[in-house]
Amino acid sequence: MIRQYELVEKVKSYDPDADEDLINRAYVFAMKAHGAQKRASGDPYFSHPVEVAYKLTQFKLDAASIVTALLHDTVEDTEVTLEDIENSFGKEIRGLVDGVTKLSRLEGKSENMNQAENFRKLLIAMSEDLRVLLVKLADRLHNMETLKHIKKPEKRQRIARETAEIYAPLAERIGMRNLKESLQDLAFAELYPEARESIVTRLNFLREAGQAELEKTVNIIRKRLEEAGLKDFTIHGREKTPFSIWKKMETKNVEFEQLSDIIAFRIIVDGIPECYQALGAIHAEWHTIPGRFKDYISTPKSNGYQSIHTAILGPGQQRIEIQIRSKEMEEIAEYGLAAHWAYKQSRGSSDNGSTRDGKQFRWIRELLEILEKSSNPEEFLENTKLEMYNDQVFCFTPKGDILAFPRGATPVDFAYAVHSGVGDKCVGAKINGRIVPLRTRLKNGDQVEIITSKTQTPSPSWERFVVTGKAKSEIRKFVRTQQRAEYINLGRAVLAKTFKQEGEEFNEKLIEPHLPQFNKKSVEDLLAEVGEGVLSRQQVAEIVIGQKKDTSANAVGSMLSSLSSPFRKKKSGHGTPMPIKGLIPGMAIHFAGCCHPIPGDRIVGIVTTGKGITIHTMECETLENYSDAPERWIDVAWEHDQADARHIGRLRAQVSHEPAALATVTNVIAKENGNISNFKIVNRSTDFFEILIDIEVHDLRHLNNIIANLRSKEVVQSVERYQT
Ligand code: MN
Repeated sequence: MIRQYELVEKVKSYDPDADEDLINRAYVFAMKAHGAQKRASGDPYFSHPVEVAYKLTQFKLDAASIVTALLHDTVEDTEVTLEDIENSFGKEIRGLVDGVTKLSRLEGKSENMNQAENFRKLLIAMSEDLRVLLVKLADRLHNMETLKHIKKPEKRQRIARETAEIYAPLAERIGMRNLKESLQDLAFAELYPEARESIVTRLNFLREAGQAELEKTVNIIRKRLEEAGLKDFTIHGREKTPFSIWKKMETKNVEFEQLSDIIAFRIIVDGIPECYQALGAIHAEWHTIPGRFKDYISTPKSNGYQSIHTAILGPGQQRIEIQIRSKEMEEIAEYGLAAHWAYKQSRGSSDNGSTRDGKQFRWIRELLEILEKSSNPEEFLENTKLEMYNDQVFCFTPKGDILAFPRGATPVDFAYAVHSGVGDKCVGAKINGRIVPLRTRLKNGDQVEIITSKTQTPSPSWERFVVTGKAKSEIRKFVRTQQRAEYINLGRAVLAKTFKQEGEEFNEKLIEPHLPQFNKKSVEDLLAEVGEGVLSRQQVAEIVIGQKKDTSANAVGSMLSSLSSPFRKKKSGHGTPMPIKGLIPGMAIHFAGCCHPIPGDRIVGIVTTGKGITIHTMECETLENYSDAPERWIDVAWEHDQADARHIGRLRAQVSHEPAALATVTNVIAKENGNISNFKIVNRSTDFFEILIDIEVHDLRHLNNIIANLRSKEVVQSVERYQT
C-alpha cells in the first residue's frame, strides 16, 4: 500500500505549492472512516482510495482531486456524511465527493447497453466537474484491476461489461488513451478469457518468430528517413493490445492468421513539418494501401488526438501500419491533455508556477474547449465545470432505460416520450418513488414512473409547460380532435335553428346531396365548418332548402380571382346583411382574437384560404406578419345599419382586492348594457385582482362608455382596452 508520505511527495513533485496538510488530513480521515472494512481481496478497504489517489497523480491532478479520491467512498460506504466532509475540508471538496458519490450510485443501472451513449452522457452531465469524472475513472480502473477477487461471476461480468461499454469510451472521449486501453483490456480478460488467452499466446509466438523481421523493417525505414534528411526521430514497433486485435477480427471478420498488422510502427519526430517530411519519404518509397491514409494533424479527433496514419506494402511486400506524430502529440495520445499541459510547462515558460491558479487547470480548460468546440470556449474558462450536456437531462424508466430530454422537461414530456398513449392517459408521476406535480422539472438521474388512468384526457394547459415537440404536438392533436367534435355539435345546433326559422325540419340527410357544392367530403366536415364559422349557416340553409337566388359573385369575382379559395366556386346568396362592406356575401368572417375590433375601430381584412377573412384593427401588431403578402389584404369598412350586431371588446382592469369589488365591475357593465361573455382573473395578489373581461358591445363608443364608467369607481385602479 502506498504510504502517506509517498503520496504527498508524489503530488509535491509536480505541484510544489500543493496543500500538504489537506492531503495528510484526508488520508487520516479516510483511514479512520473505513476502519476495519475489508476489500473482497482481504486487503484493508482503505488501500483502495489510496490506490485511486495515486493513480491520479500520473495525470498531475490538483490537491483537491487527490483529496477527493481519498474520500471518494466514505459517504457511500461509511457513517461519514457530506456535512462532515464540508466541515473538515470545505465546500469545494464536498461538491467533488458528492459528485463521485452520485456517479457511484448509478453503477449497475446501465442494464440496457443499447443506451450506452445516453448513459455516458448522463455520467458526464452529472459529473459537472471534470475532476469528478477523473476520480471515477481511476476508481473504476482499480476496481477492474482487483476484479478477480469478486466471487460471483455474474457480478464480475456485469462490472466488466459496464467498463467496456461505458467507462472505456468515456476515457477515450476525454483523451485518456492509456486509461481507455487498460480498462478495455481488463474487461476483455473478464468477458472473453479464452479469446484473449489465444490471442496472447499467438502474439507471443509471432513476437518471437518475427523479432528478426521486425528489426529488419525498423532498420530499413530508419535508413530511408535518414536519407530524406531527418535527424532527430525514433521508430518503434508497437504491439496492438489483445482487445484491439480481437475487435478487428470481429468487425472485419478476419482470421487471426490474416492479421499481418499486429504491429503498428510509430515514428516520432520533432514537429509538424517533420511529420509530413517523414510521410513523404515513406510514400515515395513504398506503395500505399488505399483508404488507410488519415491526417489527424490537420483535422484532430474530437478528443484532441493528432497523428498521421498510413498503411503501406513495406519491405518484403508486407502490409504494415505506420503512425507518424510529434513528441508532443505522442504525449497527448498516451496520457491525454494532462500530459500536454505538463509537456508545455516543462519545455516552455519561465514563470514557474507563480500563477498557480491560472496554470493548474489549464489542461482541463483546453480539454473542455476541445470537448465543446461548438460553443464559445471563453464561457468555460471560469472553472472546471463540465457544461457539455447542460442543455439535456437524462432520466430512467422503471425498467432502467435511459431517455434524454431537453432541459426543463417534465413528467408529461417523459410520458409522451414513452408512448403517446401513456401521455394521453397520464394523471400523475412519481420521481424516485415520490409523487410529484406534473409540471415538475426533471433532473439528471431521476427515475420516473408515470401514473395513468383510463378516464384521463390531455389537458390543453399542459402545452404551457411541456418542452418536447412530441408532447406539444400530441397535446395539440388531441385538443384539435376535441375541438372538432365540439364544432360539429355546434354546427348541427346552429343549422337546426336556422332551418327551423325557415320552417324546415333539419336532417343531416338533407345535406348529403349538396356536399359537392360545398366542396366537402362528409356531412361532419360541413358541420364542423359551420360550427367554426368558416361556412355561413344562411348559405347552407339557402342551398339545401332551395331558397336560391343565384347571384353569381361577379362584382367581387375579379377581386378574389387571385385566391384559390373554395368560396370562389360557391354560389352565394344574400341572407342577412354582412356587417362589413366590400365583402362577398357568404364569406366567413372572423374578428381577430388579438385586437378584438369593434365598430368604430379602423379595420382591415386578411384573407386566409379555407378560413375566410379575419378582421383586425389597423393598429394591430399581428398585421406585421402579413406585410409581405399584400394580396391578402382587403379594404373593409363597418356597415352602419347593424344595431343588433354585437362585437367583443376585451378589457384589462386592476381591481382592489376587497369584498364586492368584482360585483361592482360586473354591475357597471350590465348597467351600460354590455354583456360579459368571458371573465378571467389573471393575477391575484393580496391587494389587487388583475382581470380580463370580454364584453359584447355595439361599437367603440359603447365600449368607451363602459370604460369611462368603470374608471369612475373607486375599486377600479385602472382599466384599458386589451389588445395583444
Ligand atoms: Mn471506490
